[in-house]
Amino acid sequence: MRPLSPLFHPYGWAASDAEIARLAGVDPVQVLRYDGNVPASPLPSSRPAAIASALAVVNTYPHGGYGPLVPSIAEYAGVEPENVVIGAGADDLILLCARSFAGPGDTVAIAEEPTYPLYRIASWLAGAEVGNDDPAFTFCCRPNNPSGALGELPAARPLVVDEAYFEYAGETALDHLDDGVVIIRTFSKAFGLAAARIGYALADRETAAELNARQSPAAISTLSAALALAALASPPDVSAELEERDRFAAMLRALGLEPWPSRTNFVFVPVPDAEGLGDMLLRQGLAVRVFPDGIRISVRNRDDDDVLLEAIARGLDRPSPVELPGGRRVRHLRTTVETSVRVSLAVDGASCVRVGTGAGIYDHFLEQLAFHAGFDLVLEAAGDLETGPHHTTEDSALALGEALDRALGDRRGIARYGDAVVATDDALARAAVDLGGRPWFESGIERAPELTEHVLRSFAQAGRLGLHVSASGSDEHHVAEAAFKAVGRALRGAVRLEGDAVPSTKGIV
Ligand code: PMP
Repeated sequence: MRPLSPLFHPYGWAASDAEIARLAGVDPVQVLRYDGNVPASPLPSSRPAAIASALAVVNTYPHGGYGPLVPSIAEYAGVEPENVVIGAGADDLILLCARSFAGPGDTVAIAEEPTYPLYRIASWLAGAEVGNDDPAFTFCCRPNNPSGALGELPAARPLVVDEAYFEYAGETALDHLDDGVVIIRTFSKAFGLAAARIGYALADRETAAELNARQSPAAISTLSAALALAALASPPDVSAELEERDRFAAMLRALGLEPWPSRTNFVFVPVPDAEGLGDMLLRQGLAVRVFPDGIRISVRNRDDDDVLLEAIARGLDRPSPVELPGGRRVRHLRTTVETSVRVSLAVDGASCVRVGTGAGIYDHFLEQLAFHAGFDLVLEAAGDLETGPHHTTEDSALALGEALDRALGDRRGIARYGDAVVATDDALARAAVDLGGRPWFESGIERAPELTEHVLRSFAQAGRLGLHVSASGSDEHHVAEAAFKAVGRALRGAVRLEGDAVPSTKGIV
C-alpha cells in the first residue's frame, strides 16, 4: 500500500453503549450520550412508513439517482439542483473534497485548532500533509467543533466550510459560493438522521459537477434518501434545543463553571481534571466528550440535562443547581416494525407529563392517567398512523405498562392496593388497582372512544397490574377521561411507599 503521512492515525470512536452499560452496571437503554452532538430523539418524520416505498425496491440500484431529493435539498438550501453534491454524511463529503482538491505533495490548511479531526484524517488519506505552507485549499469548521464559536469566514481560497451545525447557528457562507467556497452540511445534527449517514455539499456549478464526477457511483442508500426527503417535508424547529442550551449553560454557571458561548447544540466547558470528570460520569452511564482542558457536552433535553448537571455537581463536590425527582425512574424503549415508543418515567414525580404520539385523544388520556398518578412522564412515539391510531396507541400503553413494571422493581414497600372515584361533568368512574404482579382487566365502561378499553387492558397486561374500571355518563369523551383519571388516582395510592416489606402474605409479588 501507498504509505500515508507518518502523523496519520485513523478516526477513533468513543465507547459503545454496551461497553458503557457494562462499566456502569446498567441496561444499555439507560446510557445517556452527551458526546455525539445529535438530538435526543429522531424527528417525527423518521418512521417506518417513510422508507416503505424504498424498501419495496431495495433489490434494485438507484438508477437515475434519488428522485426528488436533490431538488428538495436545493430548495431547502436556496440554490439550484446543479449546485448540490450528495454524500454519506458530511464525513463522506470531507473525504471527497480532500481527494478532489489535494493529493501527494500538497498541503492542506486547517483554519482553526482544535477542530473536527476528520479534516486532518481526510487530508492524510488523500496523501497530502497538513500545514499552512502554500496550501492547495483550506478547511474551516463554522461554527467550530468543539468550541461552538462562530468565527469570521477565512479569506483563504479555495475554502471548504463545514456547516454541520448550520441550523443552530443560522449563519452560512452561501453568498460566497461563486467565490471559491464549498459548503458541507449534514442531516446528522438538526435533522436527527446520524445513523442514516447522509449529507450534502453546495458549490458553484462547475465545482459541483467536478465533485459529483469524483463521488462514488451511488454514495448513499435509497433508504437514507427517503428519510432525508421525509425530513425535508417539515424541517426541524431547533428553537427548543437552543432555549435548553441556554438554560443548561446558565445552570453550569450556577455550578461555578464557565461554559463558552455556543452557536451550536453543544457547549464546551473548561474543567481542571477533564479526564477524571469524564471517567466518573462514564461510570454512571453518562458519556461526555473529553478534551485535555475541558469537556464538550451535547444538549439533550431538560430531564436528561438535569441528570448530567446533578452528576457533575456531585463529581465536583458542589451543591446541585437542580433538584431531581425521587428514585423510581426508568427510561424505556419499545420498538416493533409498526412503532417505536420512548418512555421516560419517574414514579415519584411531580405530574410533569408530555405524551406525543400523534394518536389524538389517546395522548390526552395517557397524560391524564400519568398526571393524576403523580408521575413524571415523557412518552414519544413514531408509528404507522396512516393505518389509524390502533398500533401506536396500543404500543404506547404497552410501553407505559412495561416502564411502570420496571420502575417498580421488586415492588417491595409499596402499598399495592389503590382505588378512586372520579367525576368529570356528566361522567362518573371508579377504578381499583392491585399491583400484586398478576395482570387482570375488568371493565364496566359503558361508552367511550373505541380504543379506551384496549388501551387500559394493554397497560394492565404490560404493567402486571390487576385493574377494575367502571364508568358511565352521557358524553363518551368525559366517560373515558374520568376512567383514565380514576386509574391514575388509584395508581397514585397503590405505588405509595409504606415500608420495605413485600406487600403479600406469600412474601412475593
Ligand atoms: N462535521 C462536524 C463539524 C462534525 O462535528 C461532525 C460530527 N460530529 C461531522 C462533520 C460528521 O457529520 P456526518 O454525520 O454528517 O458525517
